[in-house]
Amino acid sequence: MNMKNSWLFKLLGAFLVIIAIGGLVTSFLTSRATLRAFNLYTTRSGQIWAQRLAPDLVEYYELNNSWQGVDVFLEASWMTQQHQAMMGQGNGNGNGKGLGQGLFSDNSMMGALGQRLILTDQQGMVVYDSLDEFTGIQLAPSEIKKGIPILIDNKSVGTLLITPGSLSASSSLSNEFQVSVRRAVISSGLIAGITALALGIFLFFQITAPMRKLRKAASAIADGDLSQRVEIQGQDEFAQLGETFNQMAANLSQAELHRQHLMADVAHELRTPLTAIQGTVEGMQDGVLPCDSEQLNALLAETTLLNRLIEDLRLLSLAETNQLKLLRQPIEINSLITQILERIQPQARMNDINLDHSLQDGLPALQLDPDRITQILTNLITNALRYTPKHGSIQVATSQKDTTDAVTISVTDTGTGITTQDLPHVFDRFYRADKSRSRASGGSGLGLAIVKELVEAHGGTIKVESPVFDTDDHQGYGTRFIMHFPPQ
Ligand code: ATP
Ligand code: MG
Repeated sequence: MNMKNSWLFKLLGAFLVIIAIGGLVTSFLTSRATLRAFNLYTTRSGQIWAQRLAPDLVEYYELNNSWQGVDVFLEASWMTQQHQAMMGQGNGNGNGKGLGQGLFSDNSMMGALGQRLILTDQQGMVVYDSLDEFTGIQLAPSEIKKGIPILIDNKSVGTLLITPGSLSASSSLSNEFQVSVRRAVISSGLIAGITALALGIFLFFQITAPMRKLRKAASAIADGDLSQRVEIQGQDEFAQLGETFNQMAANLSQAELHRQHLMADVAHELRTPLTAIQGTVEGMQDGVLPCDSEQLNALLAETTLLNRLIEDLRLLSLAETNQLKLLRQPIEINSLITQILERIQPQARMNDINLDHSLQDGLPALQLDPDRITQILTNLITNALRYTPKHGSIQVATSQKDTTDAVTISVTDTGTGITTQDLPHVFDRFYRADKSRSRASGGSGLGLAIVKELVEAHGGTIKVESPVFDTDDHQGYGTRFIMHFPPQ
């Protein structure tokens, strides 16, 4: 077995690919989510901070009447804020009233970490920038609109803008967080990978155990041991496969048994007339038997029998392998039956048997091969003649319940009937209920097997009833063969 093509490698490969994809997707999604959460948090806390800072700035302006020196004040408060945020603690004193004290006294101020603080004067000129980038620069009105106006008596004296800083601590903190997340993802990926390998190997042997058993059994069957079966455990797909396999093996051994019996039967059936021919010819050679027309007629009868037997076998094997060509054409079944009966009538009369029919009018034309249908009916009627004693009767009937229903053709006799033990086997090859009697009258036991194959080749069905032996349902007849042909 090529290891690269083994399921073990495919299974493990699939596991590892899934883990790798899972790890990549997790680390990508967590970094994105972390960054977003950090930004959202800093923006929100920036807004809260600005709202808290605004009244203090109003107070500052009222005291100083200008923004002069505000940078020192803000710088000091900024440092305090940064420090508190870094340490991760507020002083917890509640809202202090004093300037520079109340400003950063709330825990929520922590979020101001990484913020950029800009203060402009009345005209939009930057008087303070925590990053010291825009100080002294005029901000565009659109930028100013984003800020919080510092109002004294409803008159704006400046604007306060707090935004997340681009290279601020926020991103470096979130980066740090991402790195640790990535590290966790990698180590969990490694643990998952090792577990997957172990699990994969375990699952592989678990899954392939029934497969190996199946393979062993299959190769034993391939080597000719048809008795091989696999043990079925549970009800999963492998159990179902095992059941199908066992069914297949059973069918195979059944078919093999059948083939062996058939060979034995064929050999046996051929030997009987051949032995008779050989005996007669040897007797003639030795002068024990005269070489007259009586002996020659006997020889001819045996060879005719042999020929018929071979022809029957050929027909049967053609029908069984679906190789029989049917020359289907629309036929009036009633008139075909009348013709057949007319042909057999002399033979029936000779045996003192009443051969008649009961045919339903208005039957649809059926797409059948007239020669094969004649063969079917002749076989059935000949059987009936053979097993019906003198003064008995044979009736061929046709009927159809509804125009869409199948057309029924039956052959009923008042003969000996068939025992319940024999009934299921009459369609088997070489099956004769009474072997000595049939052999004496020339029957080989192939007739009904051929009839069944021919009926089925036409898409029809055939069954047999013999109520003579079924005392509960005595219908007053011996045997009835019933065929159904679907209308086309
Ligand atoms: P073949 O038809 O090949 O000459 P056969 O008539 O013995 O030989 P089938 O026609 O296959 O063989 O019939 C099988 C057996 O079924 C017969 O040997 C007979 O025992 C039984 N059988 C068939 N038809 C009837 C019937 N109408 N009444 C009683 N038994 C029957
Ligand atoms: Mg027959």
